[in-house]
Amino acid sequence: MNCKQAETLVAAYADGEVDALRNYSIKKHLLGCAGCAASYQSMLELRARIRTEVPYFVASPALQARVRAAVGAVRASVRPQSRPTSDRWRWLTGGVLAGCTASVFAWMLGTTVLAWRASEDFAVAAVSSHVRATLNDHLIEVASSDRHTVKPWLSARLDYSPPVQDLANEGFALIGGRLDYLERRPVATLVYRYRQHTIDVFVRPETSRAPLSALRTVRGFNVARANGPSMDWLAVSDAEPAVLSGFVQRLAREDISQ
Ligand SMILES: [Zn+2]
Repeated sequence: MNCKQAETLVAAYADGEVDALRNYSIKKHLLGCAGCAASYQSMLELRARIRTEVPYFVASPALQARVRAAVGAVRASVRPQSRPTSDRWRWLTGGVLAGCTASVFAWMLGTTVLAWRASEDFAVAAVSSHVRATLNDHLIEVASSDRHTVKPWLSARLDYSPPVQDLANEGFALIGGRLDYLERRPVATLVYRYRQHTIDVFVRPETSRAPLSALRTVRGFNVARANGPSMDWLAVSDAEPAVLSGFVQRLAREDISQ
């Protein structure tokens, strides 16, 4: 078995759904291949996280009663047929459909929760970076209020080109930028001064349309975020929450205008 074949089977293997022969081959491959073994390991970790972190909801008695009533109504509306084969077929397809619906629902729930988790993790990582940069006096790697200096500096170090605006006339003066590594990826950080506050703005290509908590507090810092047409925007500062979220929404609104 090669890596390409292993790749397609590793998820099923992690779920114990591979037949005996392939089970043996993939097991052997994982022993000898660090790359595939790592992806298998991360799959197990993901599954463990879903088990421990995804909220488990028990249906209320009222909901259970409603579902039973709905199923009962569907059953009653299906007239019994004399031929047992078609009856069996109907139950079979019904079961398959119900299974599909349940799988799709579980998949949607899982995806939403994971996207939510990822966006929360990103907020925490951004605050850590802000704190670290402040403590190390390393907020700015390219000091300039000129977006025509900051933008190319960042673009040269990233695989995307972050929109950069100076909003000094609105009270938010661009003072520079730096490159951060958040969640193992380089991210553009724009640094603004608002009155006596420093605002770090993390800009990265849009990663998801997951529902984001627009405003929250992490370790005493306010975190505001917004989705622009092409970028995810996240601002960290000790500036007032209303100011911060107004500012980040302002930036996100115009992220393709340059
Ligand atoms: Zn491999």
